[in-house]
Amino acid sequence: MNVLLIGSGGREHSLAWKLAQSPRLTKLYAAPGNPGIAEHAEIVALDPADHEAVIRFCLSNTVDLVVIGPEVPLVAGLVDDLEAARIPAFGPRKGAAQLEGSKAYTKELCATYGIPTARHRSFVEPAGAKHYIRSVGAPIVVKADGLAAGKGVVVAMTLAEAEAAVDMMFEGGLGEAGEQIVVEEFMTGEEVSYFCLVDGDHVLPFGSAQDHKRVFDGDEGPNTGGMGAYSPAPIFTAELEKRVLDEIVRPTVKAMQALGNPFRGVLYAGLMLTPQGPKLVEYNTRFGDPECQVLMRRFRGDLLELLLATARGALNGHRAEFSPEPAMIVVMATRGYPGDYVKGSEIKGLEAAGRGEGVEIFHAGTRADGERLLASGGRVLGVTACGRDLQDARDKAYTAVDAVEWSDGFCRRDIGWRVLGSSRP
Ligand code: ATP
Repeated sequence: MNVLLIGSGGREHSLAWKLAQSPRLTKLYAAPGNPGIAEHAEIVALDPADHEAVIRFCLSNTVDLVVIGPEVPLVAGLVDDLEAARIPAFGPRKGAAQLEGSKAYTKELCATYGIPTARHRSFVEPAGAKHYIRSVGAPIVVKADGLAAGKGVVVAMTLAEAEAAVDMMFEGGLGEAGEQIVVEEFMTGEEVSYFCLVDGDHVLPFGSAQDHKRVFDGDEGPNTGGMGAYSPAPIFTAELEKRVLDEIVRPTVKAMQALGNPFRGVLYAGLMLTPQGPKLVEYNTRFGDPECQVLMRRFRGDLLELLLATARGALNGHRAEFSPEPAMIVVMATRGYPGDYVKGSEIKGLEAAGRGEGVEIFHAGTRADGERLLASGGRVLGVTACGRDLQDARDKAYTAVDAVEWSDGFCRRDIGWRVLGSSRP
């Protein structure tokens, strides 16, 4: 079976690593890929935004499945176009990708179908939004409706901050994403990422994780794409999982069917475990990065088989088995990230670092320059380790991190603090 993987991050490297283990795989292609993905796939010069070119490539290389890593191609309707050309794809069509692409859409769906989430109102102009904010008071949360690469949410502790966020979004600070905004109630509690494969109808639970969004130890500093994660999330008990499936995930899948937008792909529920029970913070319609990397380390089955079954609407009867051993990822980023940083510094020692027991290193923003490996992005490497318990996984991951020779890199030293405390390894 021939597969084309779309994407170039650590998430996609871990997907490529797992897909390459499938006995069904004949040939893996990847676009745009990265040097880590290139160890498992043939990199092809394709722009995922050029749907016609992607279709031509699939037809002339008899691609049996396209696996789409990031959200932008999903929201742009790549799956719709591939399916119109009879090419199976893993990921939701444009209509179903609205669960991630429009926060107003998801909030309306939750309100209509009684799915637990923060109370909200949507606005298309600032005066109404500010009036509502003053009537509710702070803390309060202001969100741009559309995709904003993680920059579209302001958790405002004061009214002034909330009103400034409204102005920034309506003045075009986030482009089209801010043409509509959602203002919602501030929730408190621990956050958990929960993943399910969904084939339009059937739901196959695919594990939990907790990530670390802030750039510095102790959850200080600005938000990032994610600086580390572990799976499973011990706080997410079987009882909580059942509640989330019954109260949040299954009702959403049914609602999407009823709305004529059946959801196929991976549904990633960002949850908050509030004193009133689990509530939905947001949906993403693809795997999380870096959560995907730790899920892939623990997943024991044939990924290609499951992704294909998801795309074909044939998940019924499938199971997803995971290693009971926890996995951790520590993200190594270029100094300065998520602000400005300089690209092009050299990374050495990866091979030796990757030889540690239970260790696997995934590439994100790297670039090959002959024999040399250079940093070419903000988040650059994902150092993962599995262990008999989370402490063991953490010890192994940081031992590998310390073996990487990269003077321009940094990482958080406290990944896993919610479970293990913040003593620095
Ligand atoms: P991501 O980068 O995860 O896709 P996003 O930009 O789509 O994020 P959300 O996940 O909706 O935005 O929100 C980002 C973060 O803001 C959440 O992880 C959470 O910490 C905080 N947050 C969002 N909504 C609320 C809320 N109602 N109450 C409290 N905190 C919230």
